[in-house]
Amino acid sequence: KLHELLAKHEHTETKWLPPQNAKSYSLAEIQTGITLNQFEPYFQPKVSLSSGEIVGAAVLARWHHPQDGIIPPYAFIPHLEANRGINDLTFQILRKSAIAWRSLQRQGHEFTISVNLSLVSLDAPELADRITQIVRDQVIDPKHVVLEITESAAITDVLHALENLARLCMNGFALSIDDYGTGYSSLQQLTRVAFSELKIDQSFVKDLSENESSRIVVESCIDMAHKLSVSIVAEGVETLEDWDMLKRVGCDIAQGYLIAKPMNLSDFTAFLAEFDPT
Ligand code: C2E
Ligand code: CA
Ligand code: CA
Repeated sequence: KLHELLAKHEHTETKWLPPQNAKSYSLAEIQTGITLNQFEPYFQPKVSLSSGEIVGAAVLARWHHPQDGIIPPYAFIPHLEANRGINDLTFQILRKSAIAWRSLQRQGHEFTISVNLSLVSLDAPELADRITQIVRDQVIDPKHVVLEITESAAITDVLHALENLARLCMNGFALSIDDYGTGYSSLQQLTRVAFSELKIDQSFVKDLSENESSRIVVESCIDMAHKLSVSIVAEGVETLEDWDMLKRVGCDIAQGYLIAKPMNLSDFTAFLAEFDPT
């Protein structure tokens, strides 16, 4: 049954890249958009490879631009990260996804939401407290929230990053290492903090079935994760072949177009109502 369900979504697509003629936005334009509350969380299901159940939702930011439509992250994340402006976006996305989680929970759905957190933003000493406050303001226990730490640039302030991560962990958040296998080296040092999830980068998943070395990387990630009692997520799962292979090598959770693309809250709500692997 799950196979049939998934087969409907199966398709392949090249890895997401900014189109050559993509419009670019100034930092000021992006910040105005944040001030005007124009950024929205989109949700992509994370599914257990063993039970087929939806165990979580990855949150991906989209800019609802009044003239240009829906703008994906490549057009604003790098700008914000480079100019110390990412926190305002993080807070907006976190607040809106916490509100969404609450409404889905009222409808009887139980899972975690995974919000992206840029490693570069972790040098601000008060960050952990701000994040905790936003979640508590919605009367949500931080244990329902996974923070996916994304390493898009090397960081210098390892000490503050460690301090923030340790505090977030103490406050009950689950921490996830994103894009594992591709980042800079700083994230390695941060593995001293108690992470509970590891996300294998899409590039390894992509050619899992054809490329022997990708398969070895994936298998050793899974092996390491399990030895550390950390759950392991594969991203960019697009085909049934990927799904079967990941299941065979013992991966825990899958996320990708095979299951669904990122959706706005109303589409995601409808998806949850329909998705039944049993
Ligand atoms: P990510 O966190 O690794 O998210 C996965 C990306 O892969 C998303 O791209 C998602 O739409 C895409 N994806 C999911 N499944 C598939 C698949 O099967 N095939 C392919 N080809 N792609 C798939 P998106 O939404 O464009 O986001 C790109 C990146 O932007 C994210 O990568 C994340 O690092 C960053 N990002 C998104 N939202 C936020 C945010 O609120 N804060 C921060 N700091 N970064 C964010
Ligand atoms: Ca992520
Ligand atoms: Ca990732």
